[in-house]
Amino acid sequence: MEGKNYINGEWSTAGDGVIEVMNPATGEKFGTVPNGGETEASAAVDAAAEAFKSWSKTTVYERASLLMKWHDLLLENKQEVAEIMTKEMGKPLAEAVGEIEYSASFISWFAEEAKRSNGRLIPASKEGKRIQVLKQPVGVVVSITPWNFPAAMMARKMAPALAAGCTFVAKPAKLTPLTAVRMYELAEEAGFPKGVINLVTGSASKIGRVFTSHPAVRKLTFTGSTEIGKELMKQSADSMLNLSLELGGHAPIIVCEDANMDLAVEGVMASKFRNAGQTCVCGNRIYVQRSIVEEFSQRLQEATAKLKVGNGMDEGVQIGPLVDQDGYEKSARHVQDAVDKGAKVLVGGDGRAENGAFFYNPTVLINATQDMLVMNEETFGPVAPIMAFDTDEEAVRLANDTRFGLAAYFFTDSLTRGTYIAENLEYGIVGWNDGAPSSAQAPFGGMKESGIGREGGQEGLDAFLETKYISIKL
Ligand code: NAP
Repeated sequence: MEGKNYINGEWSTAGDGVIEVMNPATGEKFGTVPNGGETEASAAVDAAAEAFKSWSKTTVYERASLLMKWHDLLLENKQEVAEIMTKEMGKPLAEAVGEIEYSASFISWFAEEAKRSNGRLIPASKEGKRIQVLKQPVGVVVSITPWNFPAAMMARKMAPALAAGCTFVAKPAKLTPLTAVRMYELAEEAGFPKGVINLVTGSASKIGRVFTSHPAVRKLTFTGSTEIGKELMKQSADSMLNLSLELGGHAPIIVCEDANMDLAVEGVMASKFRNAGQTCVCGNRIYVQRSIVEEFSQRLQEATAKLKVGNGMDEGVQIGPLVDQDGYEKSARHVQDAVDKGAKVLVGGDGRAENGAFFYNPTVLINATQDMLVMNEETFGPVAPIMAFDTDEEAVRLANDTRFGLAAYFFTDSLTRGTYIAENLEYGIVGWNDGAPSSAQAPFGGMKESGIGREGGQEGLDAFLETKYISIKL
């Protein structure tokens, strides 16, 4: 598949050669995209700035109608877009189809939600004054997204930005740009006017520099690692960019002795092994109350051993390849470090790396301790370490013992215990008996070094609106 950039309503191959996109399940080349840089990024921002003049004046009903056409086209073509995703990033096809549906849910949610971006009329303390509050689009929005959810991370930014009346420039990850290209083709078919949506693939650092320094850019919305998020924040200081940063996670899962065991195993499996453990909200470390740790570990081992590993295009595969060699080596390193420090492998603990394809087998470790790498860093792989705890206070303390604060999970049937745990976890997203809490209607985002801002829900629209106060003296 040959992908192109989309700038000011034109498809273009301009750039410094091409970037090859590889299939991580086979190690074979799947396609190419242009290796764009400063020139392409500047042209895209200029086009978005010009288009903003008219797009920001359209009614929200016009914008919602175009968004819903895009939504419908995406769902009509979900199988085809999902296949592109599986071939460039490796996730099982059923998960890729799920991601397209999830992406579409953001588009419909924000198409509706923007109709309620009401301002306010506030009673004044002085006679003859009127105090109005208006919500207005922030302006040109640029976005940078990661490879692990090539469709959803872009849709979660693009839909609210467009619904709010902003124009948009996307830079997808170099490993997975082709899903974005196909989504843009469908958006073009939906009929967005030229310049409203733009797509630039290529050098992250060059495009990023333009995004953080071009005077027409008003907002940068980024999803990716904490390290790059911090770098972009520094780069954005001089232009005082409005920033949303969705960064790394290191999610704890707490399983209390009064939990429904079936629900807990199911929830941990969903949280841990989706996308082969390559999600920012993946459970990374599992704390289980000592009285049930043996039974729980055995149940998790049995469920994990049944997972089918392979090419995501093959029927029934649940765990695809890791996206690249670095990802594979990180999982292997975390497991080796844990074993060296006293953990025991119940299942997995190995993998196969052949011809540029990297499969790590889903792994359960017991006897984990807080000093292990796997208990301190985001693994981004299918590794589930289990550590025993005694009291709820201890579990919460261990869970909060990190610089990250994106998602956390716990399992208990006690309202009192659950309320204590939920209210004391320092995380932006908490799943209580729920291993899959993400949804378009809810605010998604992290505390601490997991980021700034929220996506989804009312907050996700607010992120693309300025609040203007107008004081009228009659
Ligand atoms: P990454 O290395 O930070 O890359 C993310 C994006 O940033 C990619 O598009 C990348 O481009 C770009 N980038 C890299 N260096 C850049 C630079 N100097 N200037 C501008 N852009 C730059 O992260 P990743 O490995 O792709 O993604 C995994 C991380 O994302 C994990 O930490 C995960 O937790 C996090 N994540 C967070 C959320 C959330 O909602 N909080 C959701 C998903 C993932 P290239 O690909 O072209 O290099």
